[in-house]
Amino acid sequence: MLTYDILIVGSGGAGLYAALESRMEEDLQVGVLTKVYPTRSHTGAAQGGVNAALANLDPTDTWQDHWFDTVKGSDYLADQDAAEIMTREAPMVVREMEHWGCPFSRTDEGKIAQRPFGGASKPRACFSADKVGHVMLHTLYEQGIRHGVNFLNEWQVLSLMHDGQRCQGVTAINTQTGRVHTIQAKAVILATGGHGRIYWTRTSNALGNTGDGTAIAYRAGLPIKDMEFIQFHPTGLRRTGILVSEGARGEGGFLLNGLGERFMSRYAPEKMELGPRDLVSRSCETEVRAGRAGPEGEVFLDLAHLGRERILERLPQIRELCIEFEGVDPIEEPIPIKPTAHYSMGGIHTDLNGQTSIEGIYAAGEAGCVSVHGANRLGGNSLLDILIFGRRAGKHALEYARNNSFVPVDTGQEEADTQMIASMMEGDSGASIADIRRGMGNLMAEKVGVYRNGKDLESAVSELADLQEQFKTVRIQDKTKAFNTELVAALELKNMLDLAEVVAVGALERKESRGAHTREDHPERDDENWLAHTMAAMGDDGRPKLDFTPVTITEFEPKARTY
Ligand SMILES: Cc1cc2nc3c(=O)[nH]c(=O)nc-3n(C[C@H](O)[C@H](O)[C@H](O)COP(=O)(O)OP(=O)(O)OC[C@H]3O[C@@H](n4cnc5c(N)ncnc54)[C@H](O)[C@@H]3O)c2cc1C
Repeated sequence: MLTYDILIVGSGGAGLYAALESRMEEDLQVGVLTKVYPTRSHTGAAQGGVNAALANLDPTDTWQDHWFDTVKGSDYLADQDAAEIMTREAPMVVREMEHWGCPFSRTDEGKIAQRPFGGASKPRACFSADKVGHVMLHTLYEQGIRHGVNFLNEWQVLSLMHDGQRCQGVTAINTQTGRVHTIQAKAVILATGGHGRIYWTRTSNALGNTGDGTAIAYRAGLPIKDMEFIQFHPTGLRRTGILVSEGARGEGGFLLNGLGERFMSRYAPEKMELGPRDLVSRSCETEVRAGRAGPEGEVFLDLAHLGRERILERLPQIRELCIEFEGVDPIEEPIPIKPTAHYSMGGIHTDLNGQTSIEGIYAAGEAGCVSVHGANRLGGNSLLDILIFGRRAGKHALEYARNNSFVPVDTGQEEADTQMIASMMEGDSGASIADIRRGMGNLMAEKVGVYRNGKDLESAVSELADLQEQFKTVRIQDKTKAFNTELVAALELKNMLDLAEVVAVGALERKESRGAHTREDHPERDDENWLAHTMAAMGDDGRPKLDFTPVTITEFEPKARTY
């Protein structure tokens, strides 16, 4: 049996920062287990920026401005104590990244460059051209290697184990051998990223963003929070959903409808293209519904007026993606775009230290929900969240592991998981993984998308239950043990189906419109009845059961949200 004092699941920004924090002070056994090679983690795809009120561009910017923008952006669902910690500590972690060698773009005076981002009152997104996630991930990985972090690459966690009170560890399959192992750990930090892939056919997320850690925690009886809040990013490429960063609008890009009008003047006359994402995505969809779309139901992002030089200097990767995946060069013509499922505001419920309801089990990053983003995340705040709360989870787990002993664990879960895989490998398939996955993605995009209503949501819940039944008949055709990607896909699909169901049930239950959750049949925000977090737990029948808990309000009373 493998044993670690602290096991971190996931090697994106949150997992790596947690690993560094838990490695630096103490000689404990710390392992990072990840299903993809660390530098392939999704953090590396982040393009536009990480927020911190450094005031390098606008000297009047303060962390308090950042705090308020975050709470307002969240449509007042963020916990204000958590948002305060994040925004107050932001300059410190960004400077720490800088000292570790992260190559940020620079102002003429040599300071870290900052650009405007949606929903922000001041330009505070620190960037590195349009590759900020890439440089952050590589910097953190280098530091991990330097500090002797132990990596288990290409291992996939299957189950989380606890005795009802304290952490015992996990089971995981080594993809290189196909063998399931028990890994005992005093503390486990789940940093497995988001679940945007539940919108399979319409998302900006990497293939691996299947919400594994969140689903595993849910099945292990830990509450998951605010799952109905899924962010749609307004500027996904029309045919693939691949992201065109908000940095493109931060640099001065215009949104145009099929008639060539800058339509944001109808919806956010002050902020225009730099309104928050929920508002801009709704505006794009409204233009399409009003018959003012392009020929394929798209609207357009126009960058051509920025000029060749600026596009090549600030947005080189965006240009390449547009040429490769849409056949359009933004230097010459507008980019066809559609909103794309982008970010999971909900996740595993934690306190301010990343601690879940079970001692020794932590969650951080997009997999977790300390609730700094509430009903709508601001661009640039996720990379910040993973640094701040990855760090806090690592720090707290270190303290916990130092002061607690191992909880005994047997191999019962390992045997159950081995048996579950063996039965999936036996016989011929009744249903196809690809068909179920496509069905799930299509129905989520159509019925649990930017605009939602009770009738569609009811039908989504029932169709997802059917897909769950079909999944029980899935059998793996590829019988090899090593690098069985069909098995990986099946295990991920199981996780996505569980989470898609929680998202749809939560959306059906929440009878108001707030942030990214827009109900056509309940168009107003309803603070009297719905200023609350949704907590989902798996019931005895395997279906989600919902409960609600209050939002922490310390400074800003909810008020109407205009831009
Ligand atoms: C295209 C794109 C651009 C973005 N740009 C920005 C931006 O400019 N600014 C910003 O603030 N945010 C941005 N975001 C959001 C931000 O990048 C992510 O929210 C953030 O990087 C998530 O980091 P993470 O560490 O939580 O997870 P990830 O980076 O997704 O890492 C998850 C890790 O978990 C591992 N894992 C998953 N499941 C398992 C399992 N079962 N077993 C073992 N390991 C597992 C994976 O291997 C991976 O290492 C962007 C998102 C997208 C999609």
